Amino acid sequence: MGSVMFTCACGAFRFLDSTDDRSYAAHLLPEREWYPFMEAVDAAVEQAGPSPRERADACTALRAHRPRLALQCPACGALYLEGRLGQPHRFLPAAGTVPRDLFQPGAVPEEPAPPPAAPAHAEGRERLDAFKRLGEEAYDQMYEASSGSAATGCYSDAKEAFHDAIREARELGLEAEARALEARLEHIKAVFRSQFS
Ligand SMILES: [Zn+2]
Repeated sequence: MGSVMFTCACGAFRFLDSTDDRSYAAHLLPEREWYPFMEAVDAAVEQAGPSPRERADACTALRAHRPRLALQCPACGALYLEGRLGQPHRFLPAAGTVPRDLFQPGAVPEEPAPPPAAPAHAEGRERLDAFKRLGEEAYDQMYEASSGSAATGCYSDAKEAFHDAIREARELGLEAEARALEARLEHIKAVFRSQFS
């Protein structure tokens, strides 16, 4: 439990100034700060050097992108958004039906369920899964490789398989999966750069 930050105007709820797992709090980045933040994440993953010092610098650079705080009173549903100068601004729900747990994890559905797979789609799905298996196998073998050149060979197989998987996912319209595969590939690239090259 933290100390009280302020009490909602309704008087029924006290917002705590803690870093606990607050179900009523969110951290918000305006769009004009979001893209620079994502670029900083990419730079940290791709360019941070192998030393602890370089990694610490990359983390510090990321933490410089400070999100603003958003709080919702679970009692009355009032939303407080932190302004540019750090002051909270209160917004009231327009109707009684507005949820009072907007920031509960999972309260917002992530993506609609995919439509039932057509036969052509099923074949693509099999190819996609096969590329993913190949990629993961090559990545595992990278660790077991007996020499630097063997590891580089496995790395290049893994990259190729993941590129194939990403292309296949895009052709199937599986954008979220394509993005997850891209993130996995970036992770593998970072591991290779830091441990094998
Ligand atoms: Zn309230």
